[in-house]
Amino acid sequence: MYVYADNAATTAMSETALEAMLPCLREEYANPSSLHTPGQRAAEKLTEAREIFARRLGASPAEITFTSGGSESDNQALRSGAMLGMRKGKKHIISTKFEHHAVLHTLQALEKEGFEVTLLDIPSDGVVTAEQVRQAIRPDTALVSVMFANNEIGTIQPIAEIAAVCREAGVLFHTDAVQAAGHLPIDVKELGVDMLSLSAHKFHGPKGVGVLYARRGVALTNVIYGGAQERGRRAGTENVPGIVGAAAAFEEACAHMEENAQKMTALRDRLIRGLTAIPHTVLNGDAERRLPGNVNVCFEGIEGESLLLMLDAKGIAASSGSACTSGSLDPSHVLLALGRPHEVAHGSLRLSLSHYNTDADVDHILSVVPGVVEYLRNMSPVWDELERGERPHLI
Ligand SMILES: *Cc1c(COP(=O)(O)O)cnc(C)c1O
Repeated sequence: MYVYADNAATTAMSETALEAMLPCLREEYANPSSLHTPGQRAAEKLTEAREIFARRLGASPAEITFTSGGSESDNQALRSGAMLGMRKGKKHIISTKFEHHAVLHTLQALEKEGFEVTLLDIPSDGVVTAEQVRQAIRPDTALVSVMFANNEIGTIQPIAEIAAVCREAGVLFHTDAVQAAGHLPIDVKELGVDMLSLSAHKFHGPKGVGVLYARRGVALTNVIYGGAQERGRRAGTENVPGIVGAAAAFEEACAHMEENAQKMTALRDRLIRGLTAIPHTVLNGDAERRLPGNVNVCFEGIEGESLLLMLDAKGIAASSGSACTSGSLDPSHVLLALGRPHEVAHGSLRLSLSHYNTDADVDHILSVVPGVVEYLRNMSPVWDELERGERPHLI
């Protein structure tokens, strides 16, 4: 048995999405900018896909731009907000310490270009407050970017409240909704956001397709220059098969959102109960305000990397945090921002579920993890010191 529990890194393609893509790859391969009949048919498919996203997000089709993924959407949103601010002499941007690197590293680049960035601290429950945002806003603040749901600890942010604070202050607001999309209801008008990023491969669509919602009146700055595709906002021949697959996957995820969330929440909570029953284990992030499929715990006295390798050998695909940090020895910036000490943050495990996971998957995980944790602790000199009272337990 092999259980895939790394859906925050990427998801399996839905069969519906795959079926929708195949004709675009086989017969209907024409360029949607071409004037001939096959080209126009491809353009129609693009229009339909745009309408699906618009309808499901409560936007209008002209407010939807297709990109190459969540990272590009985040880059373009932040650059656009920065440029619009700069034209008014505003060069201050607010975000948070636990954003995805697509946001954090774009902000670092903008800092080098003369922008000033404030990163908000993360409260111990993993939920940033609108009050924190209010207090950080200055007269020269151009843009606020706060993620909808965190990709490591799954906590859900009060996006509508934060958007209201920004609107009142006349500051643009972007949210990276990559992890929320398909799992939580998103209506851009109800939320009051100015820009919002999505990535298809996080909701059972193909990799390499992103969506950027930008409210009418928010002029996007180009990140990719070239042809006039996407109303001149994103050059390059559109990835028609990918976009069609993304729309089919999003439609499917939204149509089954409630039942999927119910199923995943039950699996998640059974995992959380089982794992936190292991001594000296702590759940990261609020237990309630979290994505239906996210479990993230720290086990004291072990290394997350060794845990992952052993779990893989026993048929479980998990993560110790974001895929972007694995391979480096630094603990997750998210867990550090949450206030976990280095030695605790190192012992993290993220299990992220999809609606394809089953009760049998959870049984398998719960039958394997406690034994592996015990095995690793028995081999750990740090655990030995903890048990002999030579250093204090932190959990
Ligand atoms: C995966 C992810 C991204 C990046 O999306 P890609 O399509 O892989 O570029 C951005 N933000 C969050 C929160 C993510 O989980």
